[in-house]
Amino acid sequence: MPKILDGKWLAEQVLSAVQREVAALVDKRQRVPGLGVLLVGDNAASKAYVANKEKSAAKCGFQAFDVRLPADATYEQVRDAVLSFNSDERVDGILMQLPLPGHLDSSKLLDLIDPNKDADGLHPLNQGLLMKGAGMLRPCTPLGVMKHIDLAFSNIDPQKGQHAAQDIATARLDGKHVVVIGRSVLVGKPVGFLCLERNATVTFAHSKTKDLPAVCRTADIVIAAVGVPHLVKADWVKEGAVVIDVGINRLPNGKLTGDVDFDSVAPKSSAITPVPGGVGPMTVAMLIQNTLHACKSRQSQATK
Ligand code: NAP
Repeated sequence: MPKILDGKWLAEQVLSAVQREVAALVDKRQRVPGLGVLLVGDNAASKAYVANKEKSAAKCGFQAFDVRLPADATYEQVRDAVLSFNSDERVDGILMQLPLPGHLDSSKLLDLIDPNKDADGLHPLNQGLLMKGAGMLRPCTPLGVMKHIDLAFSNIDPQKGQHAAQDIATARLDGKHVVVIGRSVLVGKPVGFLCLERNATVTFAHSKTKDLPAVCRTADIVIAAVGVPHLVKADWVKEGAVVIDVGINRLPNGKLTGDVDFDSVAPKSSAITPVPGGVGPMTVAMLIQNTLHACKSRQSQATK
């Protein structure tokens, strides 16, 4: 049986560790982290994601600062909300929930976020630092994927009892071949670079890749970040591979499913993420962890 990489369990471990660090800040009479949340419009999925992130932030003892703008908000209104978070000393992490309504240029607005408060790790400066193997704020979903890989190669199995997050060592990927399916700026590219940083040999596959099943069969770790339900089949995966499914796809019956055909792939894998309940909860946990890191970094800069 494969190890099921339970993202809810893993996220709980990360959030508990953040909670302990926030309690230590309070003990030292230091400021707790502040998360600035900007939601434009009333897209139901975005509202649910934001509520989830705010719930995790509150659980960890963060202060939350909310700005809600209507769907017809102008570029200037959204820009001013971002700039106001940038200049607010109490805000350490800024979350601008995507997608924005179609008339707004998300890329241009994301670029306005102070890179030191870029909780999502998507600012071009932070993306560039990632390419250099430097920087502190990395994109949340790729960071969550790396934690799943750590769990996969550890001797900890969530189904066999509870362990604290600090028991999960950083996995060495020397000699491992990682195939990332997808090359987006949000997931595919950064997750590939995080694996490369850990000495893996990385192949980026995409819609123009020839014989994708054959490419995937050479992988020790398959990371699917595509957006095509059940694309990865059992005969695409080598026996004992680790399979990480980033995809979130809604089926006509309303159910969520991933890019991997879980039922047929799981028995061949050594470890696999479910959808839902795999990478998704970890994306939220890493946003919270990034905000804590930004807070600590800003406080230590302020005392220098
Ligand atoms: P994206 O920007 O649409 O990128 C999709 C990538 O998949 C592209 O590089 C595309 O190739 C490639 N692709 C599309 N069809 C393919 C095919 N048939 N064979 C091989 N490659 C194919 O999507 P994204 O933002 O990276 O998101 C990917 C998935 O992850 C989506 O389901 C999204 O909802 C999910 N997601 C989940 C989380 C989470 O927290 N769990 C976070 C972010 C995203 P080309 O470049 O050649 O077009």
